[in-house]
Amino acid sequence: MAKVTFTTEKCKTQYSYFRKNFFMQQFDVTIIGSGPGGYVAAIRCAQLGFKTALIEKYNTLGGTCLNVGCIPSKALLDSSEHYYNAVHKFSAHGITVKNVSVDFEQMIKRKADVVKQTCDGINFLMKKNKITVLNGHGTFVDGNTIAVAKEDGSNEKFKTTHTIIATGSKPSSLPFINIDKKKIITSTEALSLKEIPKHLIIIGGGVIGLELGSVYARLGSEVSVIEFMDSIIPTMDKALGKELQKVLSKEGMKFYLQHKVSEVTAKGKDVMVKATDAKNAVVDFKGDYCLVAVGRKPYTENLGLDKAEVKVDERGRIITDEHLKAAKNIYAIGDVIKGAMLAHKAEEEGIYVAETIAGQKPHINYKLIPGVVYTWPEVAAVGYTEEELKTIGIKYKTGNFPFKASGRARASMDTDGFVKVLAHAETDEILGVHMIGPRTADMIAEAVVAMEYRASAEDIARMSHAHPTFTESFKEACLAATENRALHI
Ligand code: FAD
Ligand code: NAD
Repeated sequence: MAKVTFTTEKCKTQYSYFRKNFFMQQFDVTIIGSGPGGYVAAIRCAQLGFKTALIEKYNTLGGTCLNVGCIPSKALLDSSEHYYNAVHKFSAHGITVKNVSVDFEQMIKRKADVVKQTCDGINFLMKKNKITVLNGHGTFVDGNTIAVAKEDGSNEKFKTTHTIIATGSKPSSLPFINIDKKKIITSTEALSLKEIPKHLIIIGGGVIGLELGSVYARLGSEVSVIEFMDSIIPTMDKALGKELQKVLSKEGMKFYLQHKVSEVTAKGKDVMVKATDAKNAVVDFKGDYCLVAVGRKPYTENLGLDKAEVKVDERGRIITDEHLKAAKNIYAIGDVIKGAMLAHKAEEEGIYVAETIAGQKPHINYKLIPGVVYTWPEVAAVGYTEEELKTIGIKYKTGNFPFKASGRARASMDTDGFVKVLAHAETDEILGVHMIGPRTADMIAEAVVAMEYRASAEDIARMSHAHPTFTESFKEACLAATENRALHI
């Protein structure tokens, strides 16, 4: 046998290698990504008694939702709504306010404070639940080993029995657009601008385009929305997009439907956008900012998926089975897999996977995940759209109730919009609820509960709803669906 001698230095190196690889930390569950999918999964894993690690590449926890998504956008929506109401609505209530102006720096600062408080809350929850948080970029070394590349250049490896991939998504763009993050921007930059745009051109009339478009339109920007499809929010029930476009147009937003953008260029202070309309005519737009809001793409960069035998589909989404399993002992949740890119969908999936790992039998009803657009009026929906019911051939009946017939809505001067209930033609089971109006983001929860328990329209119509509330409009729409028995229209 060959005789091996070590110098002292060599011994140290060998020992350190041995220590790193044979005495690696071991976790029961490791979650990569701390968005609403990841951090909720971590909490549920900890509640179930697992030794849990959460890896996040940024210095704050909470992912897209808390840092550059749901929370900051709602903070700016609320601030801009106060301003808009002060300027345009208070006088009708008999309130006179003079010299109302926007301190945009303060508005952005308040938003940043709200984000900080919310992210700090996640740190507290991680500590409370004894979850090990590792800051750095997580990568699979193999199916049971994860490496975390830290900001200081160091690399830590550890073992894990189960892994949950919750790496979320990033804004997507069009191949010919160069997002310079200054004039041609994504939602991330639009949430932290230094000035209110004079003319904001928005590509995409989906959720981000309309929410952030509303923020700036309320603050005085000219806002032009260019949408490829023949309707805004095109994946929702068509009646909702039509009504929302009507209301937002009244407030000054301009919509260019069936327009295909072909060129976006920034020159000095200007941004030029070229599009072709439905008749193939070229339409030119000139603004000072262009927000590209054409969807988001799953984020799996440098994740080492091949080392763990995890596959992606043609859209870059991690492929899972019906139990959200992507490979042996590896699961994926949230925006990085198929389905709606929504925080509450990611959360449900986080809980589902944690409980599945624990041997429980959880369930998610994907058809009953509500979708909300936080414009004013708010748009909220759950279940089948009318277009879907027609396509799949289910016979249905419709109940409509307009908010202008609601005493509560008249009191608050929020009479735009309606509640539309779609119920099975024979069984009366509620199949879809589509609302646009005041506080429908909160009202939709009643429809979710009703549909989860497979209520009929008549079930809801027979339940007492406090008067006067916006929720009476849901009851009335159910009465209308039942036997055309609405009381107040
Ligand atoms: P994310 O929240 O994207 O979190 C993923 C995390 O993983 C990120 O922090 C990322 O840094 C981290 N990560 C990625 N790769 C690695 C790695 N290799 N190592 C370590 N960490 C990694 N949804 C709603 O339901 N309601 C809303 O009102 C709403 N508003 C939105 C507004 C805007 C402007 C945007 C952009 C989105 C909004 N969304 C909203 C969508 C919502 O933010 C997402 O659906 C949600 O954040 C997805 O959660 P997630 O946990 O899957 O991923
Ligand atoms: P989206 O899918 O909601 O809307 C993108 C829009 O861009 C669509 O209407 C689409 O037809 C249009 N579009 C696509 N290509 C185009 C082109 N070449 N020219 C013109 N229009 C084009 O995506 P988004 O608004 O970017 O939002 C991304 C994700 O974030 C969504 O999946 C959404 O669920 C989530 N989000 C949710 C909320 C919320 O729940 N309130 C808020 C913001 C974002």
